[in-house]
Amino acid sequence: MEPRKIIEESEHYLMHTYNRFPVVLRKGRGMKVWGADGKEYLDFLGGIAVNVLGHCHPKVVVAIQKQAQRLIHVSNFYHIEPQIKLAKLLVTNSFADKVFFCNSGAEANEAAIKLARKYAKEHYGHDRYEIITALKSFHGRTLAALTATGQDKIQKGFEPLMPGFKHVPFNDIHSLREAISAKTCAVMLEPIQGEGGVNVPSDGYLGEVRELCNRHGLLLILDEVQTGMGRTGKFFAYEHYNMAPDIMTLAKGLGGGVPIGALLATDKIAAVFKPGTHASTFGGNPLACAAAIATVEAILEDGFVLDHCNRMGEYFRGRMMQLKETCDQIIDVRGKGLFIGMELTRDGMPIVKACLDRGILINCTGGGNVLRFTPPLIVEKKEVDVLAELLDELLSRSI
Ligand code: PLP
Repeated sequence: MEPRKIIEESEHYLMHTYNRFPVVLRKGRGMKVWGADGKEYLDFLGGIAVNVLGHCHPKVVVAIQKQAQRLIHVSNFYHIEPQIKLAKLLVTNSFADKVFFCNSGAEANEAAIKLARKYAKEHYGHDRYEIITALKSFHGRTLAALTATGQDKIQKGFEPLMPGFKHVPFNDIHSLREAISAKTCAVMLEPIQGEGGVNVPSDGYLGEVRELCNRHGLLLILDEVQTGMGRTGKFFAYEHYNMAPDIMTLAKGLGGGVPIGALLATDKIAAVFKPGTHASTFGGNPLACAAAIATVEAILEDGFVLDHCNRMGEYFRGRMMQLKETCDQIIDVRGKGLFIGMELTRDGMPIVKACLDRGILINCTGGGNVLRFTPPLIVEKKEVDVLAELLDELLSRSI
């Protein structure tokens, strides 16, 4: 189909839930994607932190092909090897003992909220159901996840929202302490806020949250949907902070581009989920698990991907800091690993559009003035240089 026709039919047949750019993408390999018109793009968005190994990584492609020839789907009434193998990989490499698989970040968070409520009811009685989350957080678009999300614009129009959520400023331990009541059952946070503007907490914050949760018998849920799978230079972002959650959610990078989400928890907490309490038809599907196994193995294999992510992250932030020295439109450059935000004094969208025209995919978040970079973890210096030079040019012009 002609690109123009695809865009026309997209407008006609799809619900208008996205402000899509008038570009049709058809092919991808590593850091690059190609439009239907043959135009080449460097992908610094990586499907919003999804394509951790780049586009169509050969190991992921082969794993999907092999699994597709063997078994694509069966019910969770039966055992399948890929699901067990993936769960074992995640458990071995995290604080957790048990995994529940689903299909997206919102679903994983929905499951986390259910698990925390059920655990609190069984251990402390019916009045402990409240979950404290952060302002500017993002936890997904299902009704409980959007209620957990600390942003009015995500919630507007869907009232009445779920009862039992409170929001406090991120990285503010005093506000969190004040918000805890006899009704509180859990605290739910992103280790680094993504959609809120790549907000990195101070070094001690998550450790203090952990202590506070211990003292009050609260569960700590970390939403690592965006920060997990090596994005910040550690396999999971909590590893930077010398602490661990009780419950963690994953999605985005887990399947290397194939939809899959996961809820991880310690044995004691996981034990409250019993047959009939939670389920997902597609959760832990053989095809998705095969892709995720290949992705996890490639990330963890001899530490190369994580080392590379740390080195490139440092280089990337260094290049962006250089731009900041000469450009007064840049307020801040922040992030960890290859999870990087550049806060501007101005709306970022014209920059995003100009980058697209010039063959680079990025986006902006956090109120529209934070450019967000979540490239594949295999990005190279020369590609970072191309982006830095373009940003330098664009930010010195009045676009
Ligand atoms: N949690 C976080 C931290 C996210 O960044 C996102 C998506 O951007 C979600 C949850 C929702 O994930 P999904 O879009 O897969 O439902």
